[in-house]
Amino acid sequence: MQIWLAKCAGYCFGVKRAIKMALDARQETDRVYTLGPLIHNTQIVNQLRKKGIAAIEDSNQMVGEVVDIRSHGITRNQRQVLTRNRNKLIDATCPYVHKTHKIIADMVAAGYPILIFGDGNHPEVIGMLSYGDEETKVIFNDYQVTDSCHWQKLCLLSQTTQSIEDFTAIIGRLLPHCNELRAFNTICSSTSERQMAAIELARHCELMVIIGGKNSSNTKMLAKLCARITNTLHIETEDELVRDLFSGIQRIGLSAGASTPDEMIIRVYNKIKEIYGEGDAVTSIAKIPAFKEES
Ligand code: SF4
Repeated sequence: MQIWLAKCAGYCFGVKRAIKMALDARQETDRVYTLGPLIHNTQIVNQLRKKGIAAIEDSNQMVGEVVDIRSHGITRNQRQVLTRNRNKLIDATCPYVHKTHKIIADMVAAGYPILIFGDGNHPEVIGMLSYGDEETKVIFNDYQVTDSCHWQKLCLLSQTTQSIEDFTAIIGRLLPHCNELRAFNTICSSTSERQMAAIELARHCELMVIIGGKNSSNTKMLAKLCARITNTLHIETEDELVRDLFSGIQRIGLSAGASTPDEMIIRVYNKIKEIYGEGDAVTSIAKIPAFKEES
């Protein structure tokens, strides 16, 4: 049996930065709040709560508090409410997400209708939408471009965690209907690197195990891309692994979303080894140190 780890997986720099900023802020004050969970990983969010970093859902609830803005960013209105209520904001919005806000605001000012390619229910996309105008829309793979569709000019950009393959496909469908199409590749490099590494690994494995929050957009995307190639499991913790899942499987690939810590990847790796047992030699093991070195 062989277990391989994707050469790029787990925490991205934006998530590491958001956690560090929240922990640093907590050193200076009794309590820190985040608007929504800091990252899409239940285990880490629970650990942070025990350290005095709690998630609140409604920006109106916070007055005079220290509020860490998570890497997904927030809406314009939420930012205004938090500021008006004299909260101290620790802005951990990922620079990649900030960039999308600026593109949308600039392109609206330049008179372009905006289409955002992504999941309309995801907080990052809700935040992006708030920088648009009444013409700004969220679209996804199922968007119908009918013969009657025509744009004199159009701006298209993506949620940072979408797949480049899907984004390119929608560009190809829109282009024949536009005199001018400004398409911005706003998929972040951390996402692209993790997707490419997972796809490459999936081609060589009978089973891919993708580790990360079930509500994590980038983890779900990794699982979706791998499932196009081979059998794929999306799990949050090692507790979801049972012997039957590995019946007849000899080559297993591991990857993890951008909000999955190294410790969780190692726990899953150890659980798989335990399932196979001492008698079934692991002939090639994961390069766990590579995760530590990856920035
Ligand atoms: S996945 Fe990309 S955009 Fe999201 S926090 Fe990480 S680096 Fe930033």
